[in-house]
Amino acid sequence: MESACFAARAPCGGRGRKTFPRSVTRLNLAAHAAECEENMLNKKSVDDINVKGKRVLVRCDFNVPLQDGQITDDTRLVAALPTIKKLIADGGKVILCSHLGKPKGEPKPELSLAPVAAALEKLLGQPVKFAADATVVGENAKAAVAAMNDGDVVLLENTRYRAEETKNGEAFSKELASICDVFVNDAFGTAHRAHCSNVGVTQYVDTAVVGYLMQKEIDFLGNAVNNPVRPFVAILGGSKVSSKISVISNLLDKVDVLIIGGGMAYTFMKAMGYEVGKSLLEEDYIDYAKEMIEKAKAKGVKLLTPVDTVVAKEFSNDVPFHTVGLGDIAADEEGLDIGEETCKLYADAIKSAKTVVWNGPMGVFEMSNFAKGTIAVAQALAEIDATTIIGGGDSAAAVNQLGFGDKMTHISTGGGASLEFLEGKELPGVVAANDK
Ligand code: ADP
Ligand code: MG
Repeated sequence: MESACFAARAPCGGRGRKTFPRSVTRLNLAAHAAECEENMLNKKSVDDINVKGKRVLVRCDFNVPLQDGQITDDTRLVAALPTIKKLIADGGKVILCSHLGKPKGEPKPELSLAPVAAALEKLLGQPVKFAADATVVGENAKAAVAAMNDGDVVLLENTRYRAEETKNGEAFSKELASICDVFVNDAFGTAHRAHCSNVGVTQYVDTAVVGYLMQKEIDFLGNAVNNPVRPFVAILGGSKVSSKISVISNLLDKVDVLIIGGGMAYTFMKAMGYEVGKSLLEEDYIDYAKEMIEKAKAKGVKLLTPVDTVVAKEFSNDVPFHTVGLGDIAADEEGLDIGEETCKLYADAIKSAKTVVWNGPMGVFEMSNFAKGTIAVAQALAEIDATTIIGGGDSAAAVNQLGFGDKMTHISTGGGASLEFLEGKELPGVVAANDK
């Protein structure tokens, strides 16, 4: 329910202002929200600096899927290339770092970044020196960096080999800073966390900027939510109200239309006085849903909830299913997708939109019998002439899996980070970069 920086864990402020915000009262929330937006949207990027001859540490997201030491999907490596190539072309000494999996603060050979170095070498068409160091910034890394010429590339070992990494410890942050002159953050997926390799390090370098991937996320998520071309429609779904409460509240302050689907819709239906059978229901959030319905009314936001539902007696793709109207879910049935009438209603509401933000599938899309609602919404988004933005891990997976990936304007690469963006929170990884 909190808005803006009210709930943020992150220090509120750009570089040089790393204190926690003054106590925020409800009265100055709006002003504070505006300040938060400013801290997030106006960051220096790799286009604003000169890296010639400088050691540039780049925090990438090389958290790739591995099977028996082989990278099974190199999407994240390919996505990182524009920033890396730009820094090479500008004559920087490019030192890459990333986490991979969860080694829990100790060296785990199966989570070494060595395979990433080999893959990057092929993608870049030039050597990538892998600095195999159990302590990440050890003798190997220091020697490799000392030997670099302009345009060379070095990759450090998995940053999460160090226990301090996820605790934003001072020693490791300083070590990372000691081997670079400039820091570039291009890892959006971890931007909502304050770790050594994305936040701590920036306290000990003069220049900290964002890379192209980060810039793209800031531009699309930030500008869509804060400066949308209207009508602005948000579509929220997924499993639970509880995981999206701040998103619902924040978006109600910004949108013209809010569409609710997925598992969270049943808590809203219950709040409106309808029975929902065995559907996903969060009793503790019924009052919250009522509050949001009232908030929508007060703000003049059109709030759409399902008018029909696809139900089954079990959470399974192998049992009979049928569609029922609002309030007609039997006690032994659960709602697993929005119905056909709802699909039409939602597609219609989406038609006139100029900006759409979508987070959370409309049903249990992983099962083909209950994917139709999610497909209908994806189809509607694919057909309109608008900026369409997908945030959230499962939503991004759904859109890609169902074949609509290339029809969207932007699919965020950071599940948790994109959600926090939509909540109006400050992301420590973004805030830590220098302001323009
Ligand atoms: P995201 O990762 O995009 O933020 P969530 O994690 O909130 O999305 O929700 C995604 C999950 O919600 C999916 O696994 C989907 O199966 C589930 N879901 C959607 N509709 C329902 C429903 N009616 N009942 C149960 N689960 C649902
Ligand atoms: Mg999810």
